[in-house]
Amino acid sequence: MARIGVLALQGDVSEHVLALERAGKGKVQVVEIRKSGQMEACGALVLPGGESTTIRRQLESFGLTQELKAAARQGLPILATCAGLVLVSQEVEGDSMVKPLGLMDIKISRNAFGPQRESFEADLQIKGLDRPYHAVFIRAPAIAQVGDGVEVLARVGEAVVAARQKNLLALAFHPELTKDPRIHQIFLNMLEA
Ligand code: GLN
Repeated sequence: MARIGVLALQGDVSEHVLALERAGKGKVQVVEIRKSGQMEACGALVLPGGESTTIRRQLESFGLTQELKAAARQGLPILATCAGLVLVSQEVEGDSMVKPLGLMDIKISRNAFGPQRESFEADLQIKGLDRPYHAVFIRAPAIAQVGDGVEVLARVGEAVVAARQKNLLALAFHPELTKDPRIHQIFLNMLEA
C-alpha cells in the first residue's frame, strides 16, 4: 500500500487527507507529517494551501526544511497547492516575507488576483483532463514565469495556475475543497509511473 504524507504544520491538512483517501480508493495510507524522519517513509508528499509565510517558518522550527529539499531532489512526487506552490518556487516576485525552497523553476506572484477577486471559482481546461475542472481559488498566487523544464497545465487568462516539472505538480487552486477527485488521481498516478 502506498503511503502518502501531508505536511501538517498549518493549512488545509484534513481536507487533503480525505481527498487522497477518496481518490486512492482504499489503496493508499495517508499520514500527517510533523516530525523529522516521517517524510522518508512516504512514497509521495502533499504541501497544502494555507499561509506560506507561516508554513515556511514552521518548516524551520520543526527542522524539516533540509529533509523536504532532499526528498524533492531525490524525485519524491510532490503535490504543492496554493501556499505550497509559493513554497516550491524559485523566486517570489517583490516579496521578501517568504523565502521559497527553490524546488521548481518558476517565479511566483503572491495574491496575484488582487483584493477584489480574493476568492473565485473557474472552470479550467487542464492538460490531460477531457472535461473542465471546477477550481476554487483563495487569495491565490499565480505562476508569473516558468523555466524550460516546466510544463504549463492550465491558465486563467494569461496567468499560469497549474504546472508540472518532473516529480512536482503545482497548483494555484485548492483541489481538496471540491469533490472532483481527478487532480488527486493524476498525482497518485505519478507514484505508479
Ligand atoms: N496567499 C497565500 C500565501 O501566499 C496562499 C493562500 C492559500 O493557500 N489559499 O501564502
